[in-house]
Amino acid sequence: MPPLRMLITAGPTREPLDPVRFLSNRSSGRMGYALAEAARAAGHRVTLISGPVVLEVPRGVRRLSVETAEEMRRVVLREAKRADLVVMAAAVADYRPVRVAPRKMKKGAAQQVLRLERTPDILAELGRRRRPSQILAGFAAETDHLLLHARAKLRAKNLDFIVANRVGRSDAGFESPNNRATLLDRAGGTRRFPLMTKKQLARRLLAAILSATD
Ligand code: C5P
Repeated sequence: MPPLRMLITAGPTREPLDPVRFLSNRSSGRMGYALAEAARAAGHRVTLISGPVVLEVPRGVRRLSVETAEEMRRVVLREAKRADLVVMAAAVADYRPVRVAPRKMKKGAAQQVLRLERTPDILAELGRRRRPSQILAGFAAETDHLLLHARAKLRAKNLDFIVANRVGRSDAGFESPNNRATLLDRAGGTRRFPLMTKKQLARRLLAAILSATD
């Protein structure tokens, strides 16, 4: 297979509340980084767009660091124009504070109400703009009705693949070095991958996606 141009996103986003506080999530970035490493090892050209994580950049991978969902959107949309395959493994925040305080918020006796607004759905936007030859894959991290929700997202965002993984358990998912997943495709196909390291899972997911799109 000739080398493909792959765009992979990883990690959480941070949505600032004030200069020292933010909203974020438990994503470690490990799954996305493992995918980038596996793609590079298979000879592809990889750009990794990463939220704040503590992981090292895999050798030979071009990493672009971002912080907020809006920043990730800007960089992803720009880079996706030349990508053959996009895998959105990032846990993009769904909401951000409506107002970012210019100075550190002071504590007081009263309760505080935080007003939140939706962030842009980057993958859905890619799904609307995609070239016919571009392959799009997303992740669905769910605590319940895993496959049902994942399939609905695959359709709603106009994807070729979605990787469904259960979160909220300690042996897999966010913060764990291991994961289990089910790969769903557009045609209704499903492939289950049992519990294994994220590095092993990354190699197997990538191989399954690439062999289905030959
Ligand atoms: O948050 P949700 O479950 O809809 O995420 C499914 C997929 O959509 C993931 O691949 C995630 O990276 C992507 N996503 C995104 N922009 C958002 C929310 C999610 O690209 N604002």
